[in-house]
Amino acid sequence: MNVALVTVGDEILSGDTVNTNAAWLGERLTERGVAVERVFVVPDRVGDIARVVNEARAEYDAVLVTGGLGPTHDDLTMEGIAAAVGVPVEEHTEAVEWIEAHSDYSHADLTSGTTHLPKGSRMLPNDVGVAPGAEIEDIYVLPGVPSEMHSMFERIADEFDGEPYYTETVPAGEPESALLDRFETLRERFDVKVGSYPGDYVRVKIEGTDENTVQNAAEWLRERVEAPDETNA
Ligand code: ATP
Ligand code: MG
Repeated sequence: MNVALVTVGDEILSGDTVNTNAAWLGERLTERGVAVERVFVVPDRVGDIARVVNEARAEYDAVLVTGGLGPTHDDLTMEGIAAAVGVPVEEHTEAVEWIEAHSDYSHADLTSGTTHLPKGSRMLPNDVGVAPGAEIEDIYVLPGVPSEMHSMFERIADEFDGEPYYTETVPAGEPESALLDRFETLRERFDVKVGSYPGDYVRVKIEGTDENTVQNAAEWLRERVEAPDETNA
């Protein structure tokens, strides 16, 4: 299964908010064996949201959207999704019932629009906050507030699966260029993917679908690279 992430919010584009939602979802989906193929950041604008979501859903099995769910003027995500799918937004009866049963709010207290979802969508309950999420045609719309997004994702995590990946990381105290020949041999000998991430030292990430193969590959490499300085590793 492959997916794209669409994170909505002017504050992410301007750098006011760091896109931790994309990082968190990337990690959770990858560990489930789902290939995250794209991360888009779009402004709080209906047209942009609709266009990018439509492009993404044509290409990938599912699209996860975060941010812009609340009832304030800059929360336009539900309208963007509705436009992408070609339906109106309307009050969602189940969303109203869920909030009345599970929160301190009554329907009358809620800001108008809070329970409006694209017509025909499945409501995703918000256990932490108020504004509900939605799923329609494999587009999943989740809150922007990280704690709300995390708990809503846990409710639907089982809908995202693939072949689980195993990962081992080997630290290396040599320049990346010096390691290339060993990476090549590693790939030839073992059925694994090798990524290298330079920093104070090089982190070599070995990934594959068979746990033993990944462990053996990591072992092989560990015996053939210089360990980084104690001060760096
Ligand atoms: P609310 O219902 O409270 O309005 P929301 O779902 O509409 O929530 P936003 O209004 O987009 O979400 O953002 C709410 C908060 O979550 C903001 O403080 C914002 O900075 C943060 N946030 C939004 N998107 C992200 C993201 N991709 N990564 C990290 N934080 C985010
Ligand atoms: Mg909001």
